[in-house]
Amino acid sequence: TKIQQVKLEGGGMIANLSPSDHHKLTRRAQIEKRLLEALNQHDLHVLYLPQKDVLTNQITAVEALVRWDDDVLGIVSPEELIPIAEETGLINKIGSFMLEKVCEQAAIWQQKGIPIKVSFNSSIREFRDKNMVKTIRNMLEKYNCSPKLLQIEFTEKFALEAEAEKSIIGQMQALQQDGVVFVLDDFGTGYASLRYLQLLPISKLKIDKSFVSSIMQQERLQKLVQGLIQFGQSLNVDVVAEGVETEEQYALLKQMGCDAVQGYYISRPIPAEEVEALLR
Ligand code: C2E
Ligand code: MG
Ligand code: MG
Ligand code: MG
Repeated sequence: TKIQQVKLEGGGMIANLSPSDHHKLTRRAQIEKRLLEALNQHDLHVLYLPQKDVLTNQITAVEALVRWDDDVLGIVSPEELIPIAEETGLINKIGSFMLEKVCEQAAIWQQKGIPIKVSFNSSIREFRDKNMVKTIRNMLEKYNCSPKLLQIEFTEKFALEAEAEKSIIGQMQALQQDGVVFVLDDFGTGYASLRYLQLLPISKLKIDKSFVSSIMQQERLQKLVQGLIQFGQSLNVDVVAEGVETEEQYALLKQMGCDAVQGYYISRPIPAEEVEALLR
């Protein structure tokens, strides 16, 4: 392939790059630049993914997911956005934005008497901030939102680093005492889940959608998921399955003892008003 010489933005370095690398870098740089503007102009928005309690058949929680439809770049998916945001540090700004949106929305539902918890995804960098507990408490207070309505999801990637940082664990424990619930997301895809569960104040496990998507076709997967559910039960933590797309998957997971499910079978991610309509 043709090699191009590219002047990297900011650094002033010259690198030899293939055209496809060049394209990736340009897109990255564009995302970074536009994201900062989008954050300043409050151009990001939030969709909510409903979560259904299997026993009561009620929607008892929603997961807040960031959405960005940029004028220039078009839709930038979280899969593309979040890693770039994590690397550039802009994840903290996305985190503050989501925290505020989630507290605001949870408080609105609380005031309307709609019994629904709101969870959002968090990244390691955000809990590195020693003021995280204060930031979250202040935001809850600002909207007069009960801490019990707030759930914070994090992946095992997060937990791995948390293990090394006692202050992160301390902050999580303080928030848990307030009533905030911590959820281990994408459970089963990381490396040391069992140790995280022992170390961190986790009240919920979310089985990753990669296990759920082919559960009907593979008997081994069924046994594995059954094991994950029993594991959660023995630890007295709730088990949620994500990525449930069919009635068969739902019925099987229910029979296996899952506490809650989320996925397109229940609903796609939707705006807050549609969540209310769905509850009616
Ligand atoms: P996640 O936390 O595991 O979120 C679930 C993802 O699976 C969401 O994708 C959701 O739309 C998708 N999903 C839900 N049900 C189904 C289903 O039945 N089938 C299929 N195929 N997919 C389903 P999304 O919104 O693209 O988010 C991807 C990931 O990006 C999330 O994975 C989460 O880790 C991260 N993310 C999203 N929003 C935020 C945010 O505000 N902050 C941070 N730090 N991360 C975020
Ligand atoms: Mg999540
Ligand atoms: Mg997940
Ligand atoms: Mg996942």
